[in-house]
Amino acid sequence: MSRVAYVNGAYVPLSDASVSVEDRGFQFADGVYEVWSVFDGKLADYEGHMTRLARSLTELRIPIPMTRQSLTVVLKETIRRNRVREGIVYLQVTRGAARRDHPFPAPGTLPSVVATSRSVDFQKAEAMARKGVAVLTQPDIRWGRCDIKTVGLLPNVLAKQAAREAGAYEAWMVDELGLVTEGSSTNAWIIDKNGKVRTRDTQANILRGVTRAAILDLLAQEGLELEERPFTVDEAKEAKEAFFTAAGAFLMPTVSIDGVKIGDGKPGPVATKLRRLYLERAREEAI
Ligand code: PLP
Repeated sequence: MSRVAYVNGAYVPLSDASVSVEDRGFQFADGVYEVWSVFDGKLADYEGHMTRLARSLTELRIPIPMTRQSLTVVLKETIRRNRVREGIVYLQVTRGAARRDHPFPAPGTLPSVVATSRSVDFQKAEAMARKGVAVLTQPDIRWGRCDIKTVGLLPNVLAKQAAREAGAYEAWMVDELGLVTEGSSTNAWIIDKNGKVRTRDTQANILRGVTRAAILDLLAQEGLELEERPFTVDEAKEAKEAFFTAAGAFLMPTVSIDGVKIGDGKPGPVATKLRRLYLERAREEAI
C-alpha cells in the first residue's frame, strides 16, 4: 500500500509530498515536531503531545496554524489513509517558506504543516523489550559545535530577530563567561583600547569564517597588531572600533553595542580601510 502525507492542506502520495526549498525548517531548523504513538488507530497521550506542541510553537512565536480540533482531524485522517493500526504519527510545523534570511519572515507567512504516519512492528518491539538493550554515554554537545556550518541555526535566528526588534542589525552572541563568541551570522571583531585588533580564536564555539581568514591575511599585510583572544562585552563597548565579517556582509563597521556608542559613533578608520582593502582584493581574486 502506498503511503500518504498531509502537506499544507492536502493529502498526497508520500513520493510526491514536498515543501519549498526555502522552507525555514530546511534552511534553519526553524520548526517544531511531535510524535504520537498510535494504538488501534488512535492517538496515545493525546493531551500531553498537544500541550507540548502548543508550548513549543508559542516559545518560538510560530503562529499556531490551525485549531486543536482541525489538527486532530488531520492526524486521524493521516493515520486512517495510511491504514495504521499500531504505529506512530509524526507532525512537523515550521515557520513557513520565505526568502532565506535569518530574521522572522513577514507577518502573514503561513507556517508549513506536514504529517506522516507509519506502522510499527509492536511484536518486534516487545521481543526487544523482553531482552533489554544497551546504552552508550556521549558528551552532551547540543549544540556546542558552532565550528560546523550546520543548518541547525534556530538559536542564530532567534538572536538575529531579537536584534532586529531592538533596532539593531546584528546580534553578538555572549557565552556564560560574558565573552563575545561571534555574531548570529558573522564573526565579531574590535580594535581594543590599546589599538590591537581582537577577534576570538577558533575553537568549537565559533565558525571559522572564510572572510575572517581573509581579514587576518590583510592585517598581516598591513602590519596591524592582532590578538586572537576573546573579549568581553564591556571591552567591546569600550573599544575604539568594532566590526563584523561574513561573506554576505564583507566587513561591516559597528557603531553601537546595546545602545552604547563605539568610538565617536561613526565607522572607524581601521574598519573602513580594511573593508576597502578586502573588497578590492576579493574582487580582484574572484574566479
Ligand atoms: N559565523 C556564523 C554563525 C555564520 O553564519 C557566518 C556566515 O554565515 C560567519 C560566522 C561568517 O563566515 P564567512 O566569513 O565564511 O561567511
